[in-house]
Formats: sequence, C-alpha cells, structure tokens
Amino acid sequence: MVNQDGIRRIIDECLRECPCELELIYNEPMACHTTFKVGGPADCYAKPLGDGFPAFAACLLRAARADGTPVFILGGGANIVVADRGIRGIVLDTSGWTGETGEGGAGLGDGLAMCFRSGTGADAAAELAAGAALSGLEFLAGMPGSIGGAVWMNARCYEREIADALIETEIIDFSEAEGSKGSAPRLLRISSDRAAFGYKRSPFQSRPCLILSAGFALKSGREREIRSEMEAYRRDREAKGHYRYPSAGSAFRNNRAFGKPTGKIIDELGLRGLRIGGAQVAPFHGNIIINDGGAAASDIRALTAEVATRVKAAAGFVLEPEILFVGDWG
Ligand SMILES: Cc1cc2nc3c(=O)[nH]c(=O)nc-3n(C[C@H](O)[C@H](O)[C@H](O)COP(=O)(O)OP(=O)(O)OC[C@H]3O[C@@H](n4cnc5c(N)ncnc54)[C@H](O)[C@@H]3O)c2cc1C
Repeated sequence: MVNQDGIRRIIDECLRECPCELELIYNEPMACHTTFKVGGPADCYAKPLGDGFPAFAACLLRAARADGTPVFILGGGANIVVADRGIRGIVLDTSGWTGETGEGGAGLGDGLAMCFRSGTGADAAAELAAGAALSGLEFLAGMPGSIGGAVWMNARCYEREIADALIETEIIDFSEAEGSKGSAPRLLRISSDRAAFGYKRSPFQSRPCLILSAGFALKSGREREIRSEMEAYRRDREAKGHYRYPSAGSAFRNNRAFGKPTGKIIDELGLRGLRIGGAQVAPFHGNIIINDGGAAASDIRALTAEVATRVKAAAGFVLEPEILFVGDWG
C-alpha cells in the first residue's frame, strides 16, 4: 500500500488550491467501478464532480507526480480487469465530468462538430448528437464506457472507429517535459492526426495524459433515421448477449493475419464454456470472457492465458488480449 498520509496531504492541498465537489473514498473496492465486477481496493478513489474537474485534476496530477504517488485514470471501467489486490495510489474517476463542452459549431465536413467532456458515456454522446440531428456517432450506441476511454482505446465497432470522426482533443499532458523536472502538467489542445491511430491504438497510449474533452466532426441528418440506426446497434448487442453477464467486451484483439475473427478461432477449437473459477468463455460467444457471479480477477487472467495457450498450441496463432490488466498483480 502507498502511504495514505501522503495521499491525504495531496488531496487536501488540491482541495485548498482548486476547491471542487469531490467523492473521496479510501480503500474503495474497484469491483464497484468496472463492468467485469472484479477488482480489489484502490488506496484512494477520487471522483471530482462538475466544472472544477480540470483544475482539480491538473493539481492532483502535479502533486501526485511530485510525491511519487501513482494515479490511474478511470473512465467507465469497461475495458479493464483490476487485480484482486487492487490499485496502489489514487484512482481518478472521470465519470463526474460529463456533457457537452459547448464548443461545438465549426468543424469539418459540412461544418458541424460536437465536443464532449471525457466522462460522458459513449452511448450518451451518441444520444446528444442524435438529439441535435447530427450523424456520425451512431456506432457508439450501446457501447459501455466513456468518451475519454473510447478515444484512448480508439474504440471500434460496426465498421467504424473513434478516429474516423475525432477532430480535436483537449488533454492534460503530465509527461515530464524534457529537461524540466517538476514541470507542471500542460493543458494542450491537439488536432487529431488520423494516421496516428490504428487498430485499438491511439497516440494517447504512449503519452501520460488525461483526455479532458473530445470534439467530433458530424453531419446533419434526420433524427428519426439516426435513432433508428442506433436502436439497431443496441438490439444487435442485446441479441449477441453483450449485457447478459459482467464482462469487458471482446477479450482478444482480432488480427487480419488470422484470416478469420478471433472469436471464430476460439469457437472452432471448442473452447466456448471453458471455465476457471468463476470466469468462463461465454457459452454464446467465443471472444467474450464473462464473470458468472463469483469470479476473481485472477480467474479472468488465468482463463485469458489458458485460451491463448490452447489457441497457440492448436492453431499456431498468438492471441493478444484486448482487455487491460491493471493494478497490483504482485
Ligand atoms: C458489453 C461490452 C461491449 C463492448 N463492446 C465494445 C466494442 O464493440 N468495441 C470496443 O472497442 N470496445 C468495446 N467494449 C470495451 C469498452 O466499452 C471500450 O473499450 C471503451 O471504450 C472503454 O472505455 P472506458 O471509459 O470504460 O475505459 P476504461 O476501461 O475505464 O479505461 C480503459 C483505458 O483508458 C484509459 N482512460 C480512460 N479514460 C481516460 C481519459 N479520460 N484520459 C486518459 N485515459 C483514459 C484508462 O486509464 C485505461 O487505460 C465493450 C465492453 C463491454 C463491457
């Protein structure tokens, strides 16, 4: 465990400098904040609410770095498996930083854009765009997680990915500036470079930063048609069993070189239903690992490794997990 007195000092200092409404819990079980419903305690869980988020977050990132306290940035917890031992340091939850930033208007395409605070749910962002009769984010309907997490992951589905529509992000960059140890985190506005994104890759994965907001180029459309497309995606996810059990969506990445979807490879090897403890390869989908109620994070990790080992042995493919294992794995 990281020194909790040190963490209390950091939080007190930031609340003094940048007052904001804050949900603050020590030893908070991360199982309450992940779609897999697993994960041990965070030393400190902090969720700033409302307009004070950016200043408080910047202060926290600066003070924590100066103290050597790690900070994990949490979106919707829809792509992570947190270790049973939990997360050392501070978990900074972005889910209290939601809604439109009000900086839409001029964009690309036919000149329309919408910008969302990073804690906005991906589905909620699609809803806001639909409500304004703007098309381009329909594919996010029904996808768990936040806009910040979706940008960080370059989330994708239904032949679209976040990078297709992203035009700009605002970030707090807390990488140590070259030659200036102890420099304050910088607030940067970055135009999106499409070429810097790849399959489930974004430039933010190699840069310590907090995504504050994301702006998207959209097109005007008919609200009824936009909503009907969104409903079709939600129904499709429902039919595929996405919401039946706690999970983090696809367990493994797809890879064109395999010649078929990873889920199909797992199916063909008869691995559906394979179980370790309370973790199971979904009986209804080869590329989803589920928590059937009593899983430990270690069960999910062990099952992920077991599936990869069996696929390598039987088919020769090296599977790469898409879900992220985070926290204190010992
Ligand atoms: C039922 C189900 C279906 C799913 N279907 C899909 C799908 O079709 N396509 C798909 O791509 N994914 C899918 N997922 C996975 C998940 O929804 C996405 O990856 C989502 O984009 C993760 O967002 P999040 O906010 O939950 O991120 P988290 O899981 O909270 O975090 C993921 C990573 O992003 C970082 N991060 C989060 N927010 C920020 C921020 N503001 N600034 C900096 N870093 C940040 C975190 O530190 C972490 O490293 C599915 C998950 C579930 C449970």
